[in-house]
Amino acid sequence: MRRNRRKRGRRGSRPLFELFPKGVLGILAASLVISFFISRGVITVSSVRPLEGHVIFIDPGHGGIDPGACGEFCTEKEIVLKVALLLGDRLARSGAQVVYTRTGDYDLETPEVSDVQARINIMKQSKASVAISLHCNDFTDPWERGAQVFYNASTHPDSKRLAQLIQDEFAKHTDTEREISAQLDHFILNHAEMPAVTVELGFLSNPDEERLLGSDEYQNKLVTCIYNAILTFLSPQ
Ligand SMILES: [Zn+2]
Repeated sequence: MRRNRRKRGRRGSRPLFELFPKGVLGILAASLVISFFISRGVITVSSVRPLEGHVIFIDPGHGGIDPGACGEFCTEKEIVLKVALLLGDRLARSGAQVVYTRTGDYDLETPEVSDVQARINIMKQSKASVAISLHCNDFTDPWERGAQVFYNASTHPDSKRLAQLIQDEFAKHTDTEREISAQLDHFILNHAEMPAVTVELGFLSNPDEERLLGSDEYQNKLVTCIYNAILTFLSPQ
């Protein structure tokens, strides 16, 4: 009995660090170490936030009265918006400034400016390091599947490299055998003054792929692929 009481007494005066779970202590210690090195200039803020100073333009296609491709359950405008916002959030957390053409279900048409021209204007004004346009594909053959990246090297020569980096990530992490292509006449690609790609995330005309495209898990997988490729593309070589 006496021994027990003594034990309880000891527990009451445990050292402060024992009150925190080990994981929390680790994060606190890591934060202190990182803060120390940042204050000494050993680590620069840009290495902690690797996209600091970069602007990324993201254009979720369609919106408002224009749904884009329609599957049985999902529309293109919904899927590309979700992926755009997830991607933008990831990029912003790495220090990038993100410029979107839309962040909700609307189009950009006004009496003065067409939807297409409004998107081009936002892209040009953004002075972005990279432009990403997001779409979903649609075809008469329901077996067609797979994410694919398009570019136009005549407007910016580095667009092909960006397209290849994203396609390589898709090849590693999703079920696609598609290759990058320059065979797309798209206004974002044709007017970009920066490296630009149009990403067709998959085929809504394929029922299996539509199910994937509508799931949070697959959307996050696609976002990780595009994010990692952008990070590699913008990292000093
Ligand atoms: Zn589209």
